[in-house]
Amino acid sequence: VAEKQTLGFQAEVKQLLQLMIHSLYSNKEIFLRELISNASDASDKLRFEAINNAALFENDPELQIKVTFDKAARTVTISDNGIGMSRDEAIEHLGTIAKSGTKEFFSRLSGDQQKDAALIGQFGVGFYSGFIVADRITVDTRRAGLAASEGVRWESAGEGDFTVEQIDKSARGTDITLHLREGEDELLSVWKLKSIIRKYSDHISLPILMKKEEWDDEKKETVLKDEFETVNQASALWTRSKSDITPEQYTEFYKHVSHDFEEPLAHTHNRVEGRSEYIQLLYVPKRAPFDLWDRNKRGGIKLYVKRVFIMDDAEQLMPVYLRFVKGVIDSSDLPLNVSREILQESRDVKVIREGSTKRVLGLLEELANSDDQEQKDKYATFWKEFGQVLKEGVGEDHANKERIAKLLRFASTHNDNDAQNVSFDDYIGRMKEGQDKIYYVTADNYAAAKNSPHLEIFRKKGVEVLLMTDRVDEWMLSFLHEVEGKELVSVAKGDLDLGKLEDEAEKKEHEKTETEYKDLVEKMKTALADKAKDVRVTFRLTDSPACLVADEHELSGNLIRMLKAAGQ
Ligand code: ADP
Ligand code: MG
Repeated sequence: VAEKQTLGFQAEVKQLLQLMIHSLYSNKEIFLRELISNASDASDKLRFEAINNAALFENDPELQIKVTFDKAARTVTISDNGIGMSRDEAIEHLGTIAKSGTKEFFSRLSGDQQKDAALIGQFGVGFYSGFIVADRITVDTRRAGLAASEGVRWESAGEGDFTVEQIDKSARGTDITLHLREGEDELLSVWKLKSIIRKYSDHISLPILMKKEEWDDEKKETVLKDEFETVNQASALWTRSKSDITPEQYTEFYKHVSHDFEEPLAHTHNRVEGRSEYIQLLYVPKRAPFDLWDRNKRGGIKLYVKRVFIMDDAEQLMPVYLRFVKGVIDSSDLPLNVSREILQESRDVKVIREGSTKRVLGLLEELANSDDQEQKDKYATFWKEFGQVLKEGVGEDHANKERIAKLLRFASTHNDNDAQNVSFDDYIGRMKEGQDKIYYVTADNYAAAKNSPHLEIFRKKGVEVLLMTDRVDEWMLSFLHEVEGKELVSVAKGDLDLGKLEDEAEKKEHEKTETEYKDLVEKMKTALADKAKDVRVTFRLTDSPACLVADEHELSGNLIRMLKAAGQ
């Protein structure tokens, strides 16, 4: 059907549009970055599909992005000759939000404009950011491979609905035309648009073209020529040498690949040569995404093969416990027609994954071990956001277990607060004369851990105990039995062996007491026969009269509660 159809936005889109227009106004220039980023993605997708179907290039193989404006009509247009959209795709992609973490995002909105602006940024602003500067957006698009008559015009004023109609569009790809709001005429200038592009989109690997401007002596003003020029560097950023890339360019590239609004926490950029050749540019974000705990979530790595984009979210390139890492890996060894199935079995991929894992751990170590306060603070931020995920690595990545263990941070009786900032090395450095074990207690939360009766004897002797309160801790500890040759011991399990921390006099005293109370203990054992496995005289308590203790080889109370909660 060729006639125009009016359709409603998904309710969430309406809400997002309202929020965006109001809370991102002070950041309005980012609309251009978002639209150019989409044009670049669309070109990547075309190049990828064309690997198996060269006809998609339709005699127009030079992929590029054009930014033009019309002063009289007060419009700015961003055009690409990428993959384009079919009618159904336009309705789906420009009318709904199909992102994981959407529910979580909407549930966290507070109504406080500043806080919500940060949340929207984190969620990803995307196409709808055009409405910050435009009161109407027209999208003319045709999917590569479809007939010229199968073009689509999508149009909306960014309120409740949008229209779609069929149009003729001879050129493949998408033209996005912004009808500027009152007061946005500043954008109708070569100089202004160029400076925004250079600031936010210089890293885009395709040429971004604008019409040349020239001084006209007769008219006494600059006039636009019909000739285009490239206004960005137009080479894939990761292929450039480190010394040619500014921190700002690294940051903007991160925003492009991650769809994040904030700058990253840290990055690592390397060219690996030898048996396996690849380039990696990997970033650690500042903040956990909304879907960090989503089991269906895929990784954040874009795979390129010899500069050609192959796929987003190539989860095989990063272990699951580093799923928060974003970036690009460009391999020189993999075939262009590589599929997810092939990736699964490829030896090259295994080599890349191992190499990338080492790089990321190295990057984290640099932050963690730095003497520079700023770097240390970065590690603290990292730990707060992603520490629980990193802990999964202790169980998942046997080869790097030791390295990961050294990156772990815990709350401890050494500090009087719940901050997780004590490493095993810190702990070992403070061990008492004669102490050869690392002591810890697990509990549901900090208050419960800190007030555990099991800690009494340790307090008395001035021995530090690590307080473990994250859900993953018990699971993690089942893979971690010692660190630097020091056994990890729960203070709540079995016969607490304080080893040399107990002096001879104390041992004698204990033996004497045990004999004294033998009869009483036997009576209690009989009385509690079906409730307790054993009853013992204890020396681990100094204030409390009694406590429950798990057998050395049994699940602890906390883990039992956790498994029950998980329905096991
Ligand atoms: P994101 O880029 O994070 O997917 P956006 O809101 O920026 O989200 O874009 C939504 C979707 O619209 C894209 O995923 C894509 O499918 C489609 N889209 C947007 N711009 C273009 C374009 N220039 N060419 C083809 N598809 C596009
Ligand atoms: Mg986008």
